[in-house]
Order: sequence, then C-alpha cells, then structure tokens
Amino acid sequence: MIDFTFTEEQELFRKAAREFAETKIAPHVPMMEETNGGWDEVVKELAEAEMFAVTIPEEYGGLGMGYMGRLIALEEIARVSVATAMMYQVFGLGIEPIMKFGTEEQKKKYLPKFVTGERLPTVAVTEPSGGSDPKGARTTYKKVNDSYVLNGRKCFITNSHIADVQIVLAKDEDNPEAFTAFILEIGMDGFKPTHIEHKVGMRGCNTGEIEMKNVEVPAENVLGGEGKGLKVSMSAIGDAGRGGMVGCALGLQQACLDESIKFSNERILYGKPIGKLQAIQFKIADMKIDLEAGRLLGYRAAAIQDQGGRSSNEFAAAKYYTTEAAQRAAKMAVDIHGGYGCMEEIPVTRFLRDSYVLGPSAGTSDIMKVIVARWAVS
Ligand SMILES: Cc1cc2nc3c(=O)[nH]c(=O)nc-3n(C[C@H](O)[C@H](O)[C@H](O)COP(=O)(O)OP(=O)(O)OC[C@H]3O[C@@H](n4cnc5c(N)ncnc54)[C@H](O)[C@@H]3O)c2cc1C
Repeated sequence: MIDFTFTEEQELFRKAAREFAETKIAPHVPMMEETNGGWDEVVKELAEAEMFAVTIPEEYGGLGMGYMGRLIALEEIARVSVATAMMYQVFGLGIEPIMKFGTEEQKKKYLPKFVTGERLPTVAVTEPSGGSDPKGARTTYKKVNDSYVLNGRKCFITNSHIADVQIVLAKDEDNPEAFTAFILEIGMDGFKPTHIEHKVGMRGCNTGEIEMKNVEVPAENVLGGEGKGLKVSMSAIGDAGRGGMVGCALGLQQACLDESIKFSNERILYGKPIGKLQAIQFKIADMKIDLEAGRLLGYRAAAIQDQGGRSSNEFAAAKYYTTEAAQRAAKMAVDIHGGYGCMEEIPVTRFLRDSYVLGPSAGTSDIMKVIVARWAVS
C-alpha cells in the first residue's frame, strides 16, 4: 500500500508556492491574456523563486523534492495561471529524460544550469503527421562520420521559442523502425523555432513549431542510446508529462471552485445568496468531489514514483480524470456566473478556454483510455 501523507516540508512548500503564485505570477496574467506573450517575465519569476530546482537532485544543485514537490508547485501555480503552469510543466518534462537517461557528462553539463534557469529544456515529439502516433513521425536522422544529421519539423511544442535545449525524437533515415532522441541546442546551424501558435486558451503560454534543416548533432548529444528514442521520450511523457498535466488540471479545478464559491456567496437572488440554492450547492459538490478524487489519483501516482516505483498507468488514469474534470468544473463555474459567465473580464471564461487546451497535451483522453484499458486487462 502506498502512503502519501504530506510531510511538514511539503505543506510548507505548498504555502510558499501559493504565495509565490499569488504575488509574483498573478500580476502578469492580464498582460499574458492580452498579448499572448509575457513568457520571459514569468520564466524570470520562476527562476528567481528556484522553481526549476524542485525535481533536480541535490548533487546537481537542485532541491530533490521529487514528483510530489513538482505536483504541489504545479497545482498552486495553475490555480493562478494555467498558462504559466503549462510552461513550467514542460520545462520539467525536458529535465526528466536528462535526469533519467543522461550520461554523467550530460547531467553535469545541463542540470546545474536548469536549476538556475540559465538554460531551459523542452521535448519535441509531435509532428504535423499526428501526435498520437509517434512512429508515424517524419523527422529523420542519418549518421555521417561521428555526427548525426537531422531534418524535419515539429509542431505544438511548448516553450519552442524559450527553451535553448530541445530533446528531439527522430527516426533513422535508413531504418524507419529505429528512433533516437537527440539533445539539440539553439545555435546549431539549421535548427530554429518558427511559427508561434495562437491558442484558444492558455494565452501567454508559448507553443510553436521548430524546424531542422541538415542540423549536425554530435554523437555525445544522443540521449539514452541510439535506437532507444521511443523509450526515452515515451517514458518522460508517460511520467513527467502526464503527471505535470495532472498538476495543471488540479490547479484549474481549484480555481473554478474558488471563483464559484465566491460568486455564489455574493450574488443575491430572491433576497439571499444563490449559494443557498440546492442546484448551486450540487454543482459545488460535484466540483469538490471531482477535485478530491483527482487529487487522490494524482498524488498517489506521484508518491509511487518517489518511492521508487513506476506509475505511468496511474498517471494516465489521473491525467484523463483530472483534465476531463477540469472541463466539467470550468463549465459549471461559467454556468454559476449566469450572464457574467459570458464576459471576458470574469476569470471563469479564461478557465473554460484554458480547460479545453489541457485535453490533447501529453496525449488525448482517448489515448489515456487506451493505456488504462491495457492496464486493466494486464
Ligand atoms: C497546448 C499543447 C501543448 C503541447 N505541447 C507539446 C510539447 O511540448 N511537445 C510535444 O511533442 N507535443 C506537444 N503537444 C502535442 C500533443 O502531444 C498532441 O496534440 C497530442 O499527442 C495529440 O496529437 P494530435 O494533436 O496530432 O492529434 P491526433 O493524434 O491527430 O488525434 C486526432 C484524434 O484522434 C484520436 N485518436 C488518435 N489515436 C487514437 C486511438 N488509438 N484510439 C482512439 N482515438 C484516437 C485522438 O484522441 C483525437 O481525438 C502539445 C499540444 C497542445 C495542444
């Protein structure tokens, strides 16, 4: 049986993360919404608060707080800004494969710089050919002497224009069954971010495309060994990627609940707050039950990882449950606000738009159910 009672240190960290989100991130939200930018400012805040250090082991200068620490930070940041949480979650997704599969040289080269935010990573797997089917990807590599030459294009990449270290999945030009993960760095000839997406929600979270044209990557930048790319990238997405989305979804659910309770206490109809109406109370109850159930799934999966186990299946279940629940919560929050729920200046309209962007990231709900069904019959 896995126990995941929060330690005193984790409780204190939650308090600090909440204060950080409310005082340092919240002020940037209106500008992020208006301009679909502002990422440099929030990344600077995250670095100053040592948020990038959370999962990195102490021997590389980090705080070594594991999956639980990361989930706590994400939940508190997403409660204030899902866009910021999403960028933070994908930096964590980039850190994970280097921690797990990197050589000692790679860990020493990158991890201490990630701690300070001096350098930042992302993971680029998805291509226009379809994210659910990574084997259908068309980015290729060819071994030329001691290097590899990469060609291709990736889309929907979080932090595409911020991360200067990008872990790219490519297939062998001469053997379409062989995939390798490479560490690419901005500055390599032929490698650059291109288009920036304008998403319906999570505005201010950088999502875009990258392109590789005859990029020469030295052999020392192969991550996890030649031919092991699917294992490296899917393991990172399965654990850190889906675990991170759970944090984003839980924070959003809490925000929906907070705003709904506030509004239903303030809005007077028939001479009393609408919170006295049972129809409103039932919506609040549904949101609360979804949130607590999602927390149990998510924090349990994180605890399994921190105790040395593997919880990709549990994270898939938690990712499915919490991201769907976030959409339900956002719709209920909008409904509770009546006509105000259609006005852009009311936060719940942002929550509704943000909730729909949670779905596909790190794998769609259909793909989560495919994984969970496989787990159920195994
Ligand atoms: C905001 C955002 C951020 C992202 N960040 C990153 C990132 O940093 N790095 C990265 O590599 N990618 C990233 N992605 C891409 C994301 O991983 C993909 O969008 C996702 O994997 C789905 O791929 P797709 O969009 O190509 O949809 P498709 O794979 O084309 O799917 C289309 C539809 O088919 C369904 N479907 C597919 N296969 C099955 C199946 N076997 N059974 C049932 N239904 C199925 C899907 O559920 C979906 O409804 C991001 C996406 C978004 C929206």
